[in-house]
Amino acid sequence: MGRRLEGRVKERRVLTSPPVSWHPDSWRSKPVAQGVAYDDPVALEAALAKLRELPPLVNSWEVERLKKQVADAQEGKRFLLQGGDCAETLADCRPSVITNKLKILLQMSLVLVHGAKKPVVRVGRLAGQYAKPRTSATEEKNGVVLPSYFGDLVNKPAFEPEARRADPRAMIDAYAHAGLTLNFVRSLTAAGFADLHHPEYWDLAFLSRADLPRELRDEYTQTTAKLGEALRFMEALGEGSVDELSRIDFYTSHEALSLHYESAQLRTVPRREGHYLLTTHMPWIGERTRQLDGAHVELFRGIRNVVGVKLGPKVTPEEALDLFATLNPENEPGKLVAITRMGARNVERALPPLVEAVHRAGRRVLWVSDPMHGNTITTTSGLKTRDFDDILQEIEASFDVHRAVGSVLGGVHFELTGDDVTECIGGGLTESDLDRNYASVCDPRLNYPQALEMAFRLGRRLGQLPSR
Ligand code: PEP
Ligand code: MN
Repeated sequence: MGRRLEGRVKERRVLTSPPVSWHPDSWRSKPVAQGVAYDDPVALEAALAKLRELPPLVNSWEVERLKKQVADAQEGKRFLLQGGDCAETLADCRPSVITNKLKILLQMSLVLVHGAKKPVVRVGRLAGQYAKPRTSATEEKNGVVLPSYFGDLVNKPAFEPEARRADPRAMIDAYAHAGLTLNFVRSLTAAGFADLHHPEYWDLAFLSRADLPRELRDEYTQTTAKLGEALRFMEALGEGSVDELSRIDFYTSHEALSLHYESAQLRTVPRREGHYLLTTHMPWIGERTRQLDGAHVELFRGIRNVVGVKLGPKVTPEEALDLFATLNPENEPGKLVAITRMGARNVERALPPLVEAVHRAGRRVLWVSDPMHGNTITTTSGLKTRDFDDILQEIEASFDVHRAVGSVLGGVHFELTGDDVTECIGGGLTESDLDRNYASVCDPRLNYPQALEMAFRLGRRLGQLPSR
C-alpha cells in the first residue's frame, strides 16, 4: 500500500513554480535568458512603438492551417521539412539568394514527397531568422572585449564598438527585411513558380552546374519526371484533389529569441480566441532559452501558433514532459514541435528515454530531427564545420529510435543554403575546401549539392519505412 502510494506521488510530478495566469506581459516578470542590454530606453520604446504599429507578416488562417498540417505529421500522414540559414542577414535579402534558398527547399521537398509517398510541409528558417543566441555574451580579440554579435536584429558582426552596440532600430530594419523576403517568396509561390507541374522552374542555374555529381542530377531529373507523370495521370482520371496536391504551401519559422521584437506583434484577431504571434507561422524556443521558469516559455505558452522547442542531449525526460505540459496543457494536436539535436554520438543514448516517456504519457508532439546543432566541430585552423556523415547518421539513428518505441519521426531541420558555399565537410568537400567560400556569419550550412544528396538519402530511408 505504502509503495503504491509512493509510486503514485512520483507520477504526479510537481512543477517548480505554480502556473500564473498568462497575459501578454506576464513574461516580463521572468528571467530573460540571452537578453539584450539596450543603453537608450527612449530609443528602445520608440522602436517598439513603431513595430507595434506595423502590419503583421503572417495571419491567423495560415497559422491554423499549419497547425492542421503539423497535426497530420504527428500521425505520420505528412512529413515536415524545415530549413534555411543559421542566421539570415540583411545583406542577403537579395532576389538571387532568396530564390536559391526557395529552390533547394522545393527540390528537397519533391525528393521527399517521392520517397515518403506523402505530402511534405515546407517550413523555411526564413523571413525573420535574424537573432542568434550566443554561448558567451562578449567576445575578446587581442585584449579588446566587445559584446558578441547577436544577429542583425540586434547588432552588426564587425568587431568594432559601434557595430557591436545593440541598436533598437535594427529591429525595425530586420522586420522590414523579413517583410521584403516574405513578399518575394509569396509572390513566387502564388504566381506558379512553385507549381508542381513545373519543377523545371526550380532547376535553371542549378542542374547545369559542373560541380553537381552526374548521378545526383540524373536521379533528380528522373524523380521530377516520375512525379510529373503521376500528376498528369491523376488529372486524366479526373481526380479532384490534384489541385490540393500540386499547390505549394510555404511557411516561415525562426528562433523567437528577442522578446522585445516578438511581443510587439502579439495580437488578438477578430472571431478567434487567444493571441497570435504574427512575426512568423512557427516560432521556436532555442536550447539556451527553454528554461521552464524563464520568460521565453512564459510568452510562448500563451500563443495560438505552432511552437517548436529545441532539445539537446542534456534534457531529461521529466524536463521535457514539464515543458510540453506547460506549452500545450490541452494536448492540442499540431501545437508542439520537438526538435531534437542530440549529436550523432549521443543520439542512441539520449533520445530513447525521451521518446519513450513522451509516448507513454500520450503527449502529442511532432518529433523533428535537427542533425546540425549537436554535430558542430572545429577544424585545426579554427573553422566551425559539420560532417555530412555525422548529420546523416544522427537522422538515421533517430528514425531507428522512434521506430523501436512505436513513435514517429515526422520531420527534419537543416541549416542549408542554395548557394555555392563551402562550410560543411563530406558529400564532396574536404577540410581543405572550407576556405574557398566560407560565408556563414554563424553556423556552417549544407550547400546545394550536399542538401540535395541529403534529401535523396532521406527519401530512400522514408521509402523503406512501413506506411502507417
Ligand atoms: C539554431 O538553430 O541556430 C540554434 C542556435 O540552435 P540550438 O538552440 O538548438 O542550439
Ligand atoms: Mn545554428
